[in-house]
Amino acid sequence: MSELLFMEPVFKEAIWGGSRLHEVYGYEIPSDHTGECWAISAHKSGDGTIASGTYKGKTLSWLWDNHRELFGERATGDVFPLLVKIIDAKADLSIQVHPDDAYAAAHENGSLGKMECWYILDCDEDATIVIGHNAKDHDDLVRMIGEKRWGELIRQIPIKKGDFFQINPGCVHAIKGGTLILETQQSSDITYRVYDYDRLSDGKPRPLHVKQSIDVIEAPFRPDAGEAPQVLVDDGHVKKTRLVTCPRYTVEKLDVIDAWEETFPDGFVNVSVLEGEGSLNGIAIRKGQHFIVPAGYGPCRFDGKISLICSWPE
Ligand code: ZN
Repeated sequence: MSELLFMEPVFKEAIWGGSRLHEVYGYEIPSDHTGECWAISAHKSGDGTIASGTYKGKTLSWLWDNHRELFGERATGDVFPLLVKIIDAKADLSIQVHPDDAYAAAHENGSLGKMECWYILDCDEDATIVIGHNAKDHDDLVRMIGEKRWGELIRQIPIKKGDFFQINPGCVHAIKGGTLILETQQSSDITYRVYDYDRLSDGKPRPLHVKQSIDVIEAPFRPDAGEAPQVLVDDGHVKKTRLVTCPRYTVEKLDVIDAWEETFPDGFVNVSVLEGEGSLNGIAIRKGQHFIVPAGYGPCRFDGKISLICSWPE
């Protein structure tokens, strides 16, 4: 009988970070400028460890390398493919873009590219987010960046709690201050900053990557062509919503009202508990925990009032 793999997250400080990861989830954070909780990660820049059970203290990358059977037959890549984060943006993140797999493989030492998606956990009343730009074509983009016409260039949209956004490689974007987000992404740490508000970090500006940004930003901007989130079950016991399915991952939200038995697809599933407490097959789970349901675990019986985000690679 396999067991759930509860994760010990890794925390990252940032000039734009805050203290809500402690205030909202009770995590022990390194400072009140903590920007990211790498909740389920085997990336070398933040390799999470298993919190309890048979594999307590082992890193997720070690498990991937030595116990591939936990991840299922389709888990064939060199690296654990996904990374689940909670981001506390007290201030604005840089205006940035990520490469796709092909560009990252060629220019970033064989790294994965980065497709990512955001579930808005909480935000200020008038919060916005940057997704896409207003340049007509690539030449226009180069001109606007060169002339620093940021206000005109970026496409800023209002957000509210519960919104969901898919960010494809090549889509310029920025999380703005006052926003708490759960991000599901490819396991990659490659970010090209095109503009950082002329801020200083430790007395100097953070590096920009204007050339790479111009290489990878798609112009003109085209909104993601995927489907809008789709309610799959809403029966008084659970509301199950498919947030996105794309070539790299599927992400679903489960709002369990009292009890629900979920049969996940074959392979492993990442689970983050956003709200509430309850149990999974009799094992206590509560807000702020993140775990992996291993391949072959079987049906998952949830009891209690709990909200979860679940993801798996495609
Ligand atoms: Zn990003």
